[in-house]
Amino acid sequence: MDPADLFSSDLTTAGATFARAAMAHGIPVEAIIHPLRGPAGEPLQTMVCGFGPPEAATVLVLNSGVHGTEAFVGAGLQAGVLNDPAGFLARAPGVRVVLIHVINPYGAAWGRYVNEDNVDLMKNLTYGDVISPTDPIFLELDDAIDLGSLTDAAAYRRAQARRAAIIETHGAARVMSALKAGQTARPRSICFNGVRASWSKRTLDSILQRRLQGAKRTCFLDLHSGVGAWGEAYVMASNAAASRARIGQWLGDLAHDLDLPMDPPAYSTLGRASPGVELVAATLEIGTVAFDDAFREAMAFEMHDHIFGGRPDDEVRETRRRFRSYYDPATPEWRREAWRNAQAMFARFLDGLQAWDDERHAG
Ligand SMILES: [Zn+2]
Repeated sequence: MDPADLFSSDLTTAGATFARAAMAHGIPVEAIIHPLRGPAGEPLQTMVCGFGPPEAATVLVLNSGVHGTEAFVGAGLQAGVLNDPAGFLARAPGVRVVLIHVINPYGAAWGRYVNEDNVDLMKNLTYGDVISPTDPIFLELDDAIDLGSLTDAAAYRRAQARRAAIIETHGAARVMSALKAGQTARPRSICFNGVRASWSKRTLDSILQRRLQGAKRTCFLDLHSGVGAWGEAYVMASNAAASRARIGQWLGDLAHDLDLPMDPPAYSTLGRASPGVELVAATLEIGTVAFDDAFREAMAFEMHDHIFGGRPDDEVRETRRRFRSYYDPATPEWRREAWRNAQAMFARFLDGLQAWDDERHAG
């Protein structure tokens, strides 16, 4: 089949593709219903399935859709894995694979990067109920941007001028680090980490708790898009020491550091749901295009539209389309390249996991 056909652009199709591929191989699919609905009133759900030896001590978890705008990229890669489960595990017969399909179904359905509470799940999956501090530079920047005032292009230009003045005062690197750390003071603004464990965090913890029973070691590989060169598979290991060491050993120069100042380290609290399991984690990104000024504009308006509303429908639609295209170019060429490169990267992880599994027998 053409690998471009693995991918889709809406949650209903992606879900059907996932379920059909699993069932074709006799793999049971579990569905966990989200409390909210999509824009057409459709139900939302996260699906889970697994294949490989049921008693395996070593497990690869492939998670998709933390960022809703990237959900259909990860889902496409998962559909590729499910197309040929036996072939996928040929090089790692001791490993079990668990697929978690779209952990942020609300964001995926509504075309949002964040979840139903405007939360960046990348942060919330680690912080959970812990309230991370808010940098005062963020508050200054947020006042300057004033999302609620972004009703048209002229308002955006004025906000840009105020933003430029803040950057002039503090320096771009300082402002960027405040943004990257995220914030917990303003739920109706950008970079919100959330102040309690989200539905997705609680759901993911419960999935891992059940699916990792009996396992000794796990690699949590979180499928994203937007970082890296066009169609490239770009891996960033969690800043937890064990993840950096293990994934560095598997990938060599192809393992990069995660550029997110997080304490505790990214994904490190996921392992708490399954005590006794050694968990290493990484983000597998598929590269798209450079995030430029037009991206920042689309991002600001998307946030404004969803939270404050009031702009004309055609502009809202066009903004949403443009915003999403930065994470998911969705052309057949890009999709083929994404699958080809992800497949090669999965093979590196499976080789590493099989070697990790073998250590137990050797030692
Ligand atoms: Zn992402």
